[in-house]
Amino acid sequence: FDDSPVRPDVESDSEVAFEGALRPKSLEEFVGQRKVRGQLQLLLDAAAMQNRTPDHILLAGPPGLGKTTLAMIVAHESGRPLRLTSGPAIQHAGDLAAVLSSLVPGEVLFIDEIHRMARSAEEMLYLAMEDFRIDIMVGKGAGATSIPLDLAPFTLVGATTRSGLLPNPLRDRFGFTAHLEFYETDELVRVLHRAADMLGVRIDEESLGEIASRSRGTPRIANRLLRRVRDYALVAGTGATLEAVRAALLLYDVDELGLDRLDRAVMSIILERFDGGPVGLNTLAVSVGEEAETIEAVVEPFLVRIGLLSRTPRGRIATKAGWAHFGFSRNADVLF
Ligand code: ATP
Repeated sequence: FDDSPVRPDVESDSEVAFEGALRPKSLEEFVGQRKVRGQLQLLLDAAAMQNRTPDHILLAGPPGLGKTTLAMIVAHESGRPLRLTSGPAIQHAGDLAAVLSSLVPGEVLFIDEIHRMARSAEEMLYLAMEDFRIDIMVGKGAGATSIPLDLAPFTLVGATTRSGLLPNPLRDRFGFTAHLEFYETDELVRVLHRAADMLGVRIDEESLGEIASRSRGTPRIANRLLRRVRDYALVAGTGATLEAVRAALLLYDVDELGLDRLDRAVMSIILERFDGGPVGLNTLAVSVGEEAETIEAVVEPFLVRIGLLSRTPRGRIATKAGWAHFGFSRNADVLF
């Protein structure tokens, strides 16, 4: 095992800009997540018919599945301006008050990683979401007074990788929670087709299928791997053939299930150091040198989804398939 948690996918500014250009602009263009698309469409249509701001929306799911893209689509499809901010940028209630009080009527406010907002701001948000009003505290101690401030009606779109961390009063104030699922391979092939066209990469269906099946069910990763394949094909002068795809993915340590170094580091610790588990989340996080939140929100959902790991009340356990994928059999030596 190479258990370095470093991911091979650190992106340059131009890649971030390109990711932006790749975002679909309408629900129609948005691939997959059929159920969520239908639910969002209904919510937007109903609001348009009644000429009111759409209800607040919570988008929950692992990173890279399209939460930011959906927030942009909500604004675009309902013809409203969009304001983007994130939980970590809201450290005090005052930070939130500044954003809320400057919204224009009907604006869509997107708060990414909403579970990381300061507690005091969360409480302010309850009232803002429900009554489009906030109370601003002026002064301190006995002389402190609160001044009510009316807000322009807005639609909050919150995104979270950890919906379980949101306090119930906040979760209850969303009119609708969309749970985004990992994408199927054929859906990722459609995402890749579009990206390949935009990048001007000539690549056949089988090669796209190979990239798609090794993208952890995640459009962002699929697009990123395509760019690495493009680079490889360019430098090797081979064109984006199936061989080039396989060689590029090998170079970037992406295995046939799409696991990257951090996924493998986590499985390696469970299998080798803890004989398959159970292992507690914090022990696991310390062992691989990552935040527990990253392990729980980014690494584990996919390992669970493909059946290599199971989460139990006693801790994380490698499944039979987990042992097999890494060439181990339980309590036996490495097979290869
Ligand atoms: P994070 O929470 O990490 O910011 P996210 O869930 O907000 O991730 P996005 O930034 O919306 O993910 O999407 C990542 C990239 O994947 C974007 O470039 C977007 O073009 C692409 N993408 C995501 N979902 C889809 C989709 N359904 N169809 C086509 N492209 C998609």
